Amino acid sequence: MTLVRGTFLDTPVAGELRTLDGVLQVEDGVVVARGPAQDFPAADVDLRGGVVLPGLVDTHVHYPQVRAIGGLGMPLLDWLDRCALPEECKLAAPAYAAAVATEFVDGLVRAGTTTALVFGSHFATAVDALFTEAARVGLRVTSGLVVSDRLLPAELLTDPARALREGRELAARWHGVGRSRYAVTPRFSLSCSAELLESCAALLQELDGAVFTSHVNENLAEVAAVEQLHGGYVDSYDERALLGPRSVLAHDVHPTDGELDVLALRGTAVAHCPTSNAALGSGLFPLRRHRAAGVRVALGSDVGAGTGFSLLKEGLQAYFAQQLLGAEGLPLTPADLLHLATAAGADALGLGDQVGHLSVGMRFDAVWLRPPEGSTLDVVLRSAAGPDDALAKVFALGGPADVAGVWVDGTRIRG
Ligand SMILES: [Zn+2]
Repeated sequence: MTLVRGTFLDTPVAGELRTLDGVLQVEDGVVVARGPAQDFPAADVDLRGGVVLPGLVDTHVHYPQVRAIGGLGMPLLDWLDRCALPEECKLAAPAYAAAVATEFVDGLVRAGTTTALVFGSHFATAVDALFTEAARVGLRVTSGLVVSDRLLPAELLTDPARALREGRELAARWHGVGRSRYAVTPRFSLSCSAELLESCAALLQELDGAVFTSHVNENLAEVAAVEQLHGGYVDSYDERALLGPRSVLAHDVHPTDGELDVLALRGTAVAHCPTSNAALGSGLFPLRRHRAAGVRVALGSDVGAGTGFSLLKEGLQAYFAQQLLGAEGLPLTPADLLHLATAAGADALGLGDQVGHLSVGMRFDAVWLRPPEGSTLDVVLRSAAGPDDALAKVFALGGPADVAGVWVDGTRIRG
């Protein structure tokens, strides 16, 4: 049993910030009691100074693209050709993949991310390297083999039978093992034949509790190309029964109303990746339309098109995007940003009964933000008018440099 003292901020209910200046009692990785400090004996772990948030949940991030971060100045399809795909080809070499896996997992943890839905590699050996490193460090990860059979460089291509076989083998090694789960991951329907998407559907059906993830409606040129190949973008997945409550589609910057209705009907979640959308000029995310249609939305960093691993930065950029949309935007409060970065992500990944907030019965996945003394965040937090104001300052100024400790299942994995 561990007693943790601190200022805990979380959002078990969307849009409502809950604050506890007190103690969490953690047993076997689970929060078993919480309350004011006077109700408990002296704490074992003192996290006073700064704030403790639920571990951040990244619902869309590309493992092979760590070293591609910062390729600015291109729209999606040019960026893929010039930045992302050449880097992804390098993961064919196991030693290179292992090095990138180490950098990637470390980057997530340094940013305070404890749970991630990770776009894997096109190479099965590299996907093994990711799962191995995530398990070694303790990160809660859902990932899988990325598959494509058209459009991409030849070394990244597979075929339906091989995709099914390699996916089965990886899932047998990793799905439901420790904190790892498998995600069936066609890159995007533009790089997939109908037959390959059908093999993805076959694998998804075989794997109990697996996640489906891909991209959708990111960029107008991409949407038009998918339209030519498959008809509708959302339909290209839905027609193969790939969309359900365990499905997460990244971006959806340019959906039709009909597509939003399909996503809502299937219970499929959207990973909103605001720095990527801005960096690639993909567009401003129509959050209001998603909410109105009843589509679940969470945050993704989309590294390497996104500009870093911090979901605090993604939260701030999500806020900016809604401000820039004017009357079409949905003004976001600090509590909304925290919810998007934690509980909404856990919910999108089917983990909402385990992580995403710090209620009794939940796993103790947490990040302690204690800015360096004298830093601007430290200075402004000291003058915060209350918890909402403090949280706004955290999103405005916080980043990996402020992460003083990270816990998964009650075990400190950093700091
Ligand atoms: Zn992506």
